[in-house]
Amino acid sequence: MTDKKVIALGGRRTASVPEIAEDAASRLALPVFEPGWVWLVGAGPGDPGLLTLHALNALRQADVVVYDALVDETVLEFANPHAKLEYSGKRGGKPSPKQRDISAKLVELARSGKRVLRLKGGDPFVFGRGGEEALALVDAGIPFRLVPGVTAGVGGLGYAGIPVTHRDVNHAVTFVTGHMAGGAVPENLDWPSIAKGSPVIVLYMALSHLGAISALLIENGRRADEPVALVRNATLKDQSVLETTLGTAAVDVARADFKAPAIIVIGDVVKLREGLDWLGALEGRILKRDPLDMRSKKDAG
Ligand code: SAH
Repeated sequence: MTDKKVIALGGRRTASVPEIAEDAASRLALPVFEPGWVWLVGAGPGDPGLLTLHALNALRQADVVVYDALVDETVLEFANPHAKLEYSGKRGGKPSPKQRDISAKLVELARSGKRVLRLKGGDPFVFGRGGEEALALVDAGIPFRLVPGVTAGVGGLGYAGIPVTHRDVNHAVTFVTGHMAGGAVPENLDWPSIAKGSPVIVLYMALSHLGAISALLIENGRRADEPVALVRNATLKDQSVLETTLGTAAVDVARADFKAPAIIVIGDVVKLREGLDWLGALEGRILKRDPLDMRSKKDAG
């Protein structure tokens, strides 16, 4: 499988993924995965190139990989060929396994002396229940390590040419989940404060509630013409981006039949995409040199 894959190194020679992993592990003294441990690892938003060296080091050593729905399966090709791969997400219309059951499984596998890699999409500690799983391990006395990953709300937007902060636009950003455990719009969030205090809002798991959330934000003072972008399957080959506004977002999403998983960003940073859509530029898009129109603003000022 992966062992046959070769990667060009500086155009001079090629090395296999295991060679690269082993070279990195020894040069950087990356940790040895001891039996009976659980490593909670972020796989990033999808593109395997966004795996960290720690994630690769974990994949090469693990006996069992317990992965969830948002982990792109090509990433699993980097696992040790002897590793057992266990899917822990929703499958075939069946409900996803309960969080409690997943945590219990991690404990059980670690107790049986396995090196357990819990691989999660993005970053395990960003809307990923990584904290809950880690607490269950602590409770059971299982040693664990955390490997952060590139989160969709930063790296996924970067792949759409949208920086989450930009000095001329915002000095703060708020990450919000659009979905509570029960599926409703989060009511315990202080929407008036978010609307007033956060020039850029990044929404995870919010596609189905985008209409309600947009209405709440507009009610609390945000402009209906404020730019919004949705990035579906961010960083993957089939990534797609929908640009809209707060006032028209829900209608545009329905019209385009835009599906999850999508990361959503609200705010003027979306305007920068005209200048920074580097993936689009690879396909011939001409990038605008001054997408925020700063030169004319400076001249006027
Ligand atoms: N821990 C993850 C987030 C898990 S919550 C992270 O740090 O990225 C799941 C939500 O993340 C999805 O509903 C979607 O909003 C977002 N998401 C994760 N991966 C994504 C991707 N490749 N493209 C678009 N959105 C993604």
